[in-house]
Amino acid sequence: MSHYWDVCCKDCPAQACVGDATLGFVRACISARDEIAQAHKLVEHMQAYDVEVTSPHGRIDPAFFVEHASHALVPIDEYGRFEDGTKPIWEK
Ligand SMILES: [Zn+2]
Repeated sequence: MSHYWDVCCKDCPAQACVGDATLGFVRACISARDEIAQAHKLVEHMQAYDVEVTSPHGRIDPAFFVEHASHALVPIDEYGRFEDGTKPIWEK
């Protein structure tokens, strides 16, 4: 049973880092992907003041959600598996 999950882009492939997150939190991040991407402008604009998007799990990188807008984002666990237990094709 996996304890730590992250956001994975199946199209690139690439992995975000949303901290040591639960599956529920990762699903929520994917659901809120557009809103997180919008925060990128704020983070860039306020860069001199170290404005960040954070959660109790850790820092969220809004740039990832901008870079992978409209791509297939899915949860991936600490063992590199998707929710159905399969591994990404690039790891076979
Ligand atoms: Zn992508």
